[in-house]
Amino acid sequence: MSSLLVDNIGELVTNDARPGDPLGVRRDAALLVEDGEVAWVGPARYAPAADRRLDAQGAAVLPGFVDSHAHLVFAGDRAAEFAARMAGEPYTGGGIRTTVGATRAASDDQLRATVRRLHGEAMRQGTTTIEIKSGYGLTVADEARSLRIAAEFSEDTTFLGAHVVPAEYADRPDDYVGLVCGPMLAAAAPHARWIDVFCERGAFDVDHTRAILAGGQAAGLGVRVHANQLGPGPGVRLGVELGAASVDHCTHLTGADVDALAGSATVATLLPGAEFSTRSPYPDARRLLDAGVTVALATDCNPGSSYTSSMPLCIALAVREMRMTPAEAVWAATAGGARALRRDDVGVLRRGARADLMILDAPSHLHLAYRPGVPLIRQVLHNGVPQCPH
Ligand SMILES: [Zn+2]
Repeated sequence: MSSLLVDNIGELVTNDARPGDPLGVRRDAALLVEDGEVAWVGPARYAPAADRRLDAQGAAVLPGFVDSHAHLVFAGDRAAEFAARMAGEPYTGGGIRTTVGATRAASDDQLRATVRRLHGEAMRQGTTTIEIKSGYGLTVADEARSLRIAAEFSEDTTFLGAHVVPAEYADRPDDYVGLVCGPMLAAAAPHARWIDVFCERGAFDVDHTRAILAGGQAAGLGVRVHANQLGPGPGVRLGVELGAASVDHCTHLTGADVDALAGSATVATLLPGAEFSTRSPYPDARRLLDAGVTVALATDCNPGSSYTSSMPLCIALAVREMRMTPAEAVWAATAGGARALRRDDVGVLRRGARADLMILDAPSHLHLAYRPGVPLIRQVLHNGVPQCPH
């Protein structure tokens, strides 16, 4: 058994909360890794002996980011659609079908190469856990292969056959929902941990969403929902009613939506990259936090509405545009994401947790919002193994 001591940590964010300190910050700390797990955390002067030592040089160390919402299995890009939007076209979600066509035409190796590239890009920016959705295949075979490929990179794979009704079913959406709940779910479930639906005007209505999510639950999958992104709707309350781990977007909420979330174990996952990239109003994070709702931040990385894999960008946007404090945003991007995936082994640095962490080129977590757009991630450890620095 080999051990690694991360030593000389100026500021260690553990997320092992103490009264008045949700980030569980420790100064002048050290952290021992054994067998890919955190074996000890404490003051540097009491650090145990180890086989190897990694000197953090007085910098800040944080848990790796937990990006609980990403769509990485696709082909092609939609840069022209982005340019048109920035010239004044509204975002409607209709471009998803463009990506569906490109994805169906791609080989397994082409899809795998895209996931590998984006997964590596995210890791270099501090992300050590990333949920990956299907949703650009929308046939039984293409959804199943999307999830098989996703599972090569993540334990948290999500079946999103109900992303949009594909063009060939445009005039018979009930038949498509039957396909999603039947043969597509059967083919997807062995490769998925979660099921998700884009519950939105123009995508799936509340009855279809309920049928699909209930089918997924019956097949043993956990529930998450894309809800209330483009306008108000029933998605958030349905998600809470079904015990969803997370309802994602939450841009247009009523008081009843906020109350439902506040009284539940469902996380509100905010995706400010989508509002940034569609030039839309940001969700009201302050209202959710003040009501006691658990908030997570994620990238929504996808080729249409949010083509970023950068959790530091999401933190900076959440602080600047959504009135979260830097501490709230860092918590939401780490421990919040873990809650949204119902995991207690990531997003936290305490004995027994996975040794997933990042060393910043900065003395404090505050710099993630204070120095936007700057590559501040010096080193990433995943399962205790140092990743290639960039
Ligand atoms: Zn999404």
